[in-house]
Amino acid sequence: MPNFCFDCEKKIRPVKYFMVHDQIWENYGVGKDHLSVDCFKKRLGCKLIGSDLNKMLRQ
Ligand SMILES: [Zn+2]
Repeated sequence: MPNFCFDCEKKIRPVKYFMVHDQIWENYGVGKDHLSVDCFKKRLGCKLIGSDLNKMLRQ
């Protein structure tokens, strides 16, 4: 079953899954729902640039 982004309702392909650290997700995430990376960045207010985001991502 595909999952859909909570914000833009686009289908999220498995390859696009990303995980962030629990504390970050608690602050900016949507609980058990899913977000596309783009929407997640929007929620973060684009404060994070590449290297910071990559540090947050656990892949
Ligand atoms: Zn989205």
